[in-house]
Amino acid sequence: MTRELELLDRVESGQPMAHADWLWLLEHRETMDRPALYDRARAVREREFGFGIHTRGLIEISSFCKNDCYYCGLRRSNAHASRYRLTKEQILDCCETGWKLGFRTFVLQGGEDAYYTDERMCDIVSEIHRRYPEAAITLSLGERSEESYRRLKEAGADRYLLRHETATDAHYRMLHPPELSLAHRKECLFTLKRLGYQVGAGFMVGSPGQTNADLARDFQFLDELQPQMIGIGSFVPHHDTPFAQKPGGTVEDTLFCLALLRLRFPKVLLPATTALGTIDPKGRERGILAGANVVMPNLSPVDTRKQYELYDNKICTGEEAAESRAALEARMQAIGCHLTVDRGDAPGFEAGGF
Ligand code: SF4
Repeated sequence: MTRELELLDRVESGQPMAHADWLWLLEHRETMDRPALYDRARAVREREFGFGIHTRGLIEISSFCKNDCYYCGLRRSNAHASRYRLTKEQILDCCETGWKLGFRTFVLQGGEDAYYTDERMCDIVSEIHRRYPEAAITLSLGERSEESYRRLKEAGADRYLLRHETATDAHYRMLHPPELSLAHRKECLFTLKRLGYQVGAGFMVGSPGQTNADLARDFQFLDELQPQMIGIGSFVPHHDTPFAQKPGGTVEDTLFCLALLRLRFPKVLLPATTALGTIDPKGRERGILAGANVVMPNLSPVDTRKQYELYDNKICTGEEAAESRAALEARMQAIGCHLTVDRGDAPGFEAGGF
């Protein structure tokens, strides 16, 4: 058996993978039989989830952020960013639209915006929960205190997305200002798990300064964390950030990582992300064909979508818009899949929590 197949078998069977093992795969990705790898990952997705693709309605609640991550268009130092925040009523309107369209998970995502105190967020979450008790509520609001995470969970939140971005300290410091630390990020993720959230971590592919050794550590960290969701996206530069001139990540590298993740975490919820759809018009379909099983169209009010500019050219109209669910359904059917109308919980969390 070749080294490639031996390692892929180890990935899929869940046997321990050393850093050197992940590194070997990443270093040899150009010469590996990638179509075969994608087919293998897709077969695992079909075995675990069939042909149904889960949808999440994304509501971008605030483009204010107190942080200054070097790669992000919403960073506080970007004086050109246009800022907005949604009111409770606007968020509830988005949910109403989404519910009618068949979305059974609402993802409330925003920068770290002090306006959304625990009181305000719990009020919003509990009202969504009261109106749509059958829907799942996912939050993606960055680093908060354990007490805050607990209160939000009690208010009705089911899931929390917090990408770790990179699991290498030195690389984390290249991407973030000194006040942010990987240690604290990880601590938040483990806290969220302990509190009973379905937790999503994830990383950028092709971010400035990233090495194969860094990526190998990302896989190792995910092995340790065992998240229920993994969101990875190609790095896409934003023109008003320090990384404006840096090259973006590639579709092929992102697909390769998606496929490895599907093999390693057969039951994980794995989105074909907007970033993938941004750098390749067929990116999301290709992601699904490489093992992804979630799409996350935008439910935000149309006039604010463009303002939530994490990176350049982010798709936010046309088929990305949730209203075009039918168009997205047609795209999925063209590759033999279909969109589901369900919460799409991680296995073991189907009742909506512990
Ligand atoms: S990546 Fe998140 S935390 Fe960092 S600046 Fe952007 S919105 Fe804020």
